[in-house]
Amino acid sequence: MPLMPPDHIRQIRPYEPGKPVEEVERELGLSNTIKLASNENPLGPSPLAVKALQRAIATANRYPDGGGYYLCHALAERNGVSADQIVLGNGSTELVEILARSYLGHDGNAVISEQAFIMYQIAVQAVNGNAIMVPMKGRTHDLDAMARAVNGKTRLIFVANPNNPTGTSVGAAPLQRLLDAVPEGTLLVVDEAYREYAEGFADYPETLPLVRQGAPLVVLRTFSKIYGLAGLRIGYAIAPQWVVREVNKVRSPFNTNSLAQIAALAALKDREHLERSRQRNREGLKVLQEGLSELGFLVTPSVTNFVLVEVAQPARAAFERLLKLGVIVRPMDGYGIEQGLRVSVGTREENQRVLEAFDRALKRP
Ligand code: PMP
Repeated sequence: MPLMPPDHIRQIRPYEPGKPVEEVERELGLSNTIKLASNENPLGPSPLAVKALQRAIATANRYPDGGGYYLCHALAERNGVSADQIVLGNGSTELVEILARSYLGHDGNAVISEQAFIMYQIAVQAVNGNAIMVPMKGRTHDLDAMARAVNGKTRLIFVANPNNPTGTSVGAAPLQRLLDAVPEGTLLVVDEAYREYAEGFADYPETLPLVRQGAPLVVLRTFSKIYGLAGLRIGYAIAPQWVVREVNKVRSPFNTNSLAQIAALAALKDREHLERSRQRNREGLKVLQEGLSELGFLVTPSVTNFVLVEVAQPARAAFERLLKLGVIVRPMDGYGIEQGLRVSVGTREENQRVLEAFDRALKRP
């Protein structure tokens, strides 16, 4: 009998990453395939970040600055908090894992929405914590139900705002009600990976004033989405000092690499790239939402850089059909959305290819 890990590890349903485009093309004999499956910025990284990276490569023999001094200070200044309220992570995903490791203890639980970003559940299970799964209201987090699900053993509440894969967000009032209901000994984690896309949509809440007021709130952000640095793996948490102090003990000392820190610092200064990315995304999102609706598919209105589409057939079959036309999207059956596909906003050309492919492959006769 080979060595097996404990049950709580064996029971984890693995995160399903997409295959590399080159491999899909080789297997299916395709070329010119487009991948709209990971909510990446189709415009690429900020040119300022690329330049900074090129210069920095020659210093890769050195260990990174483990505390990310310059980036933490820049983020603190940008966000009106102090540098000791920032922790960097190897992507914001790592911060989710670090929070679970730091706070769940031996019998703590975390409250999570049923169709929230899957990594919350995986991170909780990996440390043998309990996940209390709360149904959503339609395709939006039901924060009042989440508040009711909190019990004496709840250490963390995870809210992705906006949420992946639904693309929806919650407003200021329900978020405040949840925060008011957070008991002592519990932390609310609001994951804002897609916040830059959602800014400007009605009622998208500001969370930093709450952190500044000392709320038991951790805000997670990332350079993987609008900043276009997903491959470098860098995100950050903005949190009360009493949280930062503890998670800094748990994180690996060199968890973010030097190139990622340098690129993030440069990207943060590139307002033009950010605005252009946001603008192009708004246009592309509109094209996809309107186009897919006109073709007769059920589209959940999104405030992000992706859209959840429901088709009248099982998601896996629909995914395979689109794949044959060289369009890679993400099936959502793993999230319990049996006929759901998540499509990231691409370039103008890519968005047109999506509409053509849905029309050819999936439209009802
Ligand atoms: N949060 C949400 C809601 C996400 O969708 C993602 C990426 N898919 C992440 C966090 C993780 O981003 P990263 O680890 O690249 O920062």
